[in-house]
Amino acid sequence: MLSNRLKQLAHYLKEPINFADIGSDHAYLPCYVCQLHPSAKAIAGEVNQGPFERARKTVLEYQLLDQVDVRKGNGLAVIEPGEVEQVTIAGMGGKLIRSILEEGEEKLKGVHRLILQPNIDAQIVRKWLAENQYQIFAEEIIDEDGYIYEIIVADLAKEKKNLTEKELLFGPFLLKECNQVFRQKWAHEKDKRLKLIEQMRQASQPPMDKINLLEKQLDWIEEVLT
Ligand code: SAM
Repeated sequence: MLSNRLKQLAHYLKEPINFADIGSDHAYLPCYVCQLHPSAKAIAGEVNQGPFERARKTVLEYQLLDQVDVRKGNGLAVIEPGEVEQVTIAGMGGKLIRSILEEGEEKLKGVHRLILQPNIDAQIVRKWLAENQYQIFAEEIIDEDGYIYEIIVADLAKEKKNLTEKELLFGPFLLKECNQVFRQKWAHEKDKRLKLIEQMRQASQPPMDKINLLEKQLDWIEEVLT
């Protein structure tokens, strides 16, 4: 059965659906979407041989060869400019998601919606979106099997909309909603930062710029949690 995390991602695909799922692994997301929407088309991109073969196997099993095209390649290299209107990238770190978007920038021509789920470093993804004229219009934070995931959905906008440092870190919509899962995440992040600062202070030359940044974030976290 598809994870709640991937179902939530699927929910943001706009019809008519023609999308690329980059780093698709088993291609569960494209197969789920194409089963649900018989007119949908998907490209499942994978850079690694094992996941690429797993993706092909799933597509064969579900008899979706006419809807899901499994392609092997690095990031957005598997698509041509203008080939899809929406892209999903899930289950990777924020830095890797940013590098996939950066390296494949010319492939994003015609892509009006990005649905991203960074496992860590979501602020890096939000910064890239803001700098590249994608405006976040929805965010979700979910707890699944003890792991907390953030989903960021952004559409190509007419002009750039800047986000504050605080919005980049917490997420503009998640910050406003400030729900229980969000509070749980940031209580944990607070502990992590406190431990990190303690370790850094023990160094012979404490990295004061990093400590100051973490302390600034700790103040914001306190504000958000109270
Ligand atoms: N997207 C699925 C999900 O969210 O459940 C799978 C996530 S899995 C943890 C990450 C997948 O991304 C792996 O299968 C890996 O091979 C693939 N991957 C990593 N870097 C990639 C890249 N540059 N281009 C395409 N796929 C990549």
